[in-house]
Amino acid sequence: MAQSTHKRVLKLMGSRFEITVIAKDSIEANNYIDLAIEEISRIEKLISSWDPNSQTSEINSNAGIKPIKVDKELFDLISRAIKISELTDGAFDISYASMDRIWKFDGSMTEMPSEDEIKASVEKVGYNNITLDPENSTVFLKHEGMKIGFGAIGKGYAADRAKTLLVSKGVKSGIINASGDMTTWGRQTNGEEWKVAITNPLNKNKAFALLPITNGAVVTSGNYEKYVNFNGTRYTHIIDPRTGYPATGIISVTVFAPKAELADALSTSVFVMGKEVGLNRIEQLPNIECIIIDYQGNIFKSKNIKINKL
Ligand code: ADP
Ligand code: MG
Repeated sequence: MAQSTHKRVLKLMGSRFEITVIAKDSIEANNYIDLAIEEISRIEKLISSWDPNSQTSEINSNAGIKPIKVDKELFDLISRAIKISELTDGAFDISYASMDRIWKFDGSMTEMPSEDEIKASVEKVGYNNITLDPENSTVFLKHEGMKIGFGAIGKGYAADRAKTLLVSKGVKSGIINASGDMTTWGRQTNGEEWKVAITNPLNKNKAFALLPITNGAVVTSGNYEKYVNFNGTRYTHIIDPRTGYPATGIISVTVFAPKAELADALSTSVFVMGKEVGLNRIEQLPNIECIIIDYQGNIFKSKNIKINKL
């Protein structure tokens, strides 16, 4: 039977999501898309640090007070996030979140935070002070004022879960695109692989490469949307957990990986690690590739990326 492509765009997790499925008609497609939306909304409820009723908020409000029992799903996500911190020497750190008390990227900041404020705040950052008890499924932030947030991994995780759910329902092909965190499966109706256009943020209108997503997921982190300017320097929403200052130097990182969760976390990490260390670390990981664009517009890529100029 002829299959056709159906897409819905909507706001979830505070971001633009595009859900695409290949199905026999729009009724079937809409049912599948509804299921994916339900799944993503369920995850948002669990992991949001904005929602005061989420388990994540309960962990945060009990920092320095007591361990909190959480669902295995959240416990496992936090365990994997800590593994990524270890893999990136702390460049990735979900406890970066206490810094959001002083760095705000929503347009509300009027002056640069002071050195003392940054120093006092970064003392609360450190994945080593997240205590996990697998037996009781509890999470404890050791110090008062600590806070965790899933801004750099949550959308990727949600995209992976939505895909897994649709695959289990028999959807043969589709894309979950969470504001540039893309995970795909199957092929397009014409039999071709799904492809992603890579753009240079310095020249946004023109994509410079169109790459097949052979490994499942591709994620782009860019600092061209959320940032503040002070004294001629652009500070991005990605924070170096070791200094408390925003990462500088890179304008965009695209990571290809089997799962969107890992691609999401690593794209943020490369921003913090910088182009040399970041590229080097990516090269050591199996099945992971990346493309980095710096402020001068220079493009760096891991060795298995073959760019076909458009
Ligand atoms: P976006 O969500 O804009 O696509 P990213 O996936 O790179 O971009 O995630 C950036 C978000 O990650 C920030 O807005 C913040 O919530 C969070 N974050 C910032 N710095 C770090 C860090 N060093 N480790 C983990 N998460 C971070
Ligand atoms: Mg990310």
